Amino acid sequence: MLDPAPAQRSGSQRDSSPAARGGGGARALARDLVATAPGHFALAALLLLTAGVTEAFGLLMIVPLLQAAGLIDAGGEGVAVVEAVTGFMTSLGLPLSLPGVLAAFLVLAAIRSATAWGRGVVTTRLRMKFTDRVRCDLYAAVADASWGHLLGRRRSDIQHMLTDSVGRVGHAAFLLLQLAVGTTLTLFQFAIAVMVAPATAAVAAALGLALASVGGPMVRRSHRIGHDLTEKGRVLRGHTTDFLDGLKPAKIHGAEHAHVERFRQQTAEVRERQVAFATLSGGTSAALSFASAVALAGLVWYALAASGLALAELALLALVFARVTPAMLRLLQQVQALANALPAQAAAAGMRKELRAAAEPAGTGGAAPALTRGIEVRNVGFVYPGAPAPALRGVSCDIPAQGIFAVTGPSGAGKTTLADLLLGLLEPSEGAIHADGAPLRGAALRRWRRATAAVPQEPFLLHESVRSNLAWSRPGATEAEMREALELAAADFVDDLEQGLDTVVGDRGGRLSGGERQRVALAAALLRQPALLVLDEPTGQLDRDNEARVIESLRRLRGRATVVVITHGDALLREADQVLTLDACHLSATSADAASPLPPAKPDRVSLTLG
Ligand code: ADP
Repeated sequence: MLDPAPAQRSGSQRDSSPAARGGGGARALARDLVATAPGHFALAALLLLTAGVTEAFGLLMIVPLLQAAGLIDAGGEGVAVVEAVTGFMTSLGLPLSLPGVLAAFLVLAAIRSATAWGRGVVTTRLRMKFTDRVRCDLYAAVADASWGHLLGRRRSDIQHMLTDSVGRVGHAAFLLLQLAVGTTLTLFQFAIAVMVAPATAAVAAALGLALASVGGPMVRRSHRIGHDLTEKGRVLRGHTTDFLDGLKPAKIHGAEHAHVERFRQQTAEVRERQVAFATLSGGTSAALSFASAVALAGLVWYALAASGLALAELALLALVFARVTPAMLRLLQQVQALANALPAQAAAAGMRKELRAAAEPAGTGGAAPALTRGIEVRNVGFVYPGAPAPALRGVSCDIPAQGIFAVTGPSGAGKTTLADLLLGLLEPSEGAIHADGAPLRGAALRRWRRATAAVPQEPFLLHESVRSNLAWSRPGATEAEMREALELAAADFVDDLEQGLDTVVGDRGGRLSGGERQRVALAAALLRQPALLVLDEPTGQLDRDNEARVIESLRRLRGRATVVVITHGDALLREADQVLTLDACHLSATSADAASPLPPAKPDRVSLTLG
């Protein structure tokens, strides 16, 4: 499923949305974040505000502290603030003694620590909820997208998005929250700095402007690196999936080390981009923290040499500076990290949008449809997305209800494509298919699929017990029904397995033989009691005895289900009521009813050859 198809496009090509270009990314992320859990977001905002206020008071307390220590008097810079703070403290009945000020400090510190803890818990909850929502939305979008669209998508791209990229989207959400916290705290600090030490605040503001001017290009570079990382991560995931899926042939052909070498090169490329980001962001911080030291030195020089400020007031300036500038530097780092993570958010949003646009119509409710008259295929053609030529063209046939209809023909003739069209997985590009007179199109497809079951040539089993695999096909099936289906599918070998129905079948059913896998998959399909059952070479991997048993099962389905079987096997072809032969020439034909060179036919059998 979701095999790499010729029509696949690269993820990078899709990253050209406005969000992908960065600007709208942070806004879209913030909007999604608020929409995910408005309650948690409001609580986080409240805690943030509390933190801002306590932070501001903490900074204000520097003044009475220095005053209580006798280091400054009511003169000099910040006199209005000193009065305001001391007035406020007196109105609260707090003594302006050293112990009183220290006690107030401790109370503020306690509030700050408690709100920081609460904020940490709430923001983590918000971030996790958001990450899960993005992941689940994407899962649902994949599940709802039409099969035809998914065929044009590389499976590993979707895997990459659901795992690595969604993780980075969660990180971007975390950074955005951090940035909101940081910005609020810095604004509060700055407002207090303006009141307590306007000269320091002016220098810090100048430094802030300098940060913003050098920050812009750095942020853009971080965004570019983030984009590269998303793209290289996608390529790496594709390689890993190919490697694991193709490990057996790789070992047989001695190519496993070539895979490892390629993997090593690709991980090195990812590592290089990560190191490039660390170098950029670390270098920016180092340069800017040196610039702030230069600014502080300038401030001290100005205060002492140029304006002759007292040592105590100088201490006040330095203390305020020491609180405000690291907060500004942290902000810049957070903006850079956010810019680096935003391309993942843009890519995830782009994929979600694309999949939603390709969603199948919701379908109607009600019971699974029955099939009493049969299926009419009229002049059906199908072109895979991006394929240069049609896979099917001008196919017409009637599939009578509750009989056995065989499709045969060489590889590439379009047998599987026709089966997928009959199953309602694909919609014809031209012509039409009707089941009991109702067109298999649009919203009818989902409902139709409730009445169908199929066993592909390489059946897929979950890495779970036989019982779970059967229950997955029809939830709520009883053990008696499962045993009946297993018996009907000639899969009663299950009783001889170590733990019977509870035996785990291994990764993709790997602990069973090909034939056993196929028979368990057939039992799962039969358990659904489908109106239409499509089987792709159901006896291809079976010995004569088991082939005979499967054919006997199909015989028993006569009158109960419509069976379409893709086969080359003589025994199965003999069993069919009608045989449709697709051959390489069918693309230029409409339909014909010439007898195909088949083994002795049953008296009522009609053979159709398209070609
Ligand atoms: P068959 O089952 O008879 O071997 P298929 O139905 O699998 O044939 O394929 C019919 C044609 O459609 C082939 O030419 C094949 O290359 C093409 N085809 C099958 N699947 C895809 C796909 N996902 N994308 C593009 N072309 C496809």
